[in-house]
Amino acid sequence: MPDGGTTQEAILRDYPRLSLDDTLDFHCGKGVDCFTSCCRDVSIVLTPYDVLRMKKALHLDSTEFLEKYTILGCTKDQKLPVVLLKMNAGDKRCPFVSDEGCSVYVHRPWACRMYPLGVAEPNGSHPTERGFYFVIHEDLCHGHGNGSQCSIRDWISSQSIDTFEMMGDPFKDLMLNEFWEKGEPLEPRKLEMYLMACYDLDRFRRFVFETRFAEIFDVDEARLEAVRTDDEELLIFAMEWLRFSLFNEKTMKLKASVLDSMQRANDKAGIESETLR
Ligand code: SF4
Ligand code: SF4
Repeated sequence: MPDGGTTQEAILRDYPRLSLDDTLDFHCGKGVDCFTSCCRDVSIVLTPYDVLRMKKALHLDSTEFLEKYTILGCTKDQKLPVVLLKMNAGDKRCPFVSDEGCSVYVHRPWACRMYPLGVAEPNGSHPTERGFYFVIHEDLCHGHGNGSQCSIRDWISSQSIDTFEMMGDPFKDLMLNEFWEKGEPLEPRKLEMYLMACYDLDRFRRFVFETRFAEIFDVDEARLEAVRTDDEELLIFAMEWLRFSLFNEKTMKLKASVLDSMQRANDKAGIESETLR
C-alpha cells in the first residue's frame, strides 16, 4: 500500500517490466514480522468502486462514508481532486486496521489488493508501448523473497482484483479522455457533479430519482429500476451521465418531448432575430 515516492518517470525508466506470466516471490500474512506496518501513514487513492464497496460493507450512506473516512487531495496537474482514505489523526493508522489485520479485508480498496504489485500504463509516448506490471520494494515490507513463488496472473486472481478492474473500467475510460489534458479545469458546478457521480452515489441516486431527470432523459424502465436498486448499475450509469454532461457524448438520450420544445424555442428565437433585422 505505501506509495514509496516512486514517480511515473522512474517506473517507466528503471523498473523491470513484468507480464502476467512472470513470477512474484512474495508472502504476506499474520506470520510476517511487518504485519500491518504498511497500513499506516499511507496515501491510498480510492476509486469510485472502492468507495461503493466500502460504504456498502460498512452499511453507510456514501455521503457519510466520504465525510468520515476520506479526504480530498489534488492530482499533480491540479485539474481534479482525488479521494484518499483518511488515516487516524493521532497514530496515523488506517481506521480499518486491527491486530488481526484489515477489518474490511473482503472489501479493501484496489490499491491495498495490488500491493506490492504496481501497474504502469504509458500514455501515448509511443503507440506500441504497452502497459506492464512492476514490483514495489520498500524497507518496511519484509514479504519479499521468501520462496512463495506465484505468477502475476495467479497473484491477481488470489486478490480478487478482476472484479475491481472490471468495475473500474468505465471510470478508467472517463479518466483517459483527452478532455482532461486539453480542457480547462472544471468550473465549480461541474466539479461538484463529477464528485457526486463518481463517489457520492447515494446522492447521485437522489439526483436521478428526486429531480426532473426522468422527465428529461429517455431511459427505459428496466434500466431505471436497475439503477434504483443496484449500486453497481448506478455507478455504470453515473459514468455514462458524466460522459454526456462533461464531454457532450451521446451516452444519454433526451426525450422526444424535450427535443420538440427545444426545437420550438430555437425556431422562435430564429423568427425573433429575423424580425429585428
Ligand atoms: S483498508 Fe485494510 S489493507 Fe488497506 S490500509 Fe486499511 S487496513 Fe490496510
Ligand atoms: S508483508 Fe508487506 S504487505 Fe504484508 S503486512 Fe508486511 S508490509 Fe504489509
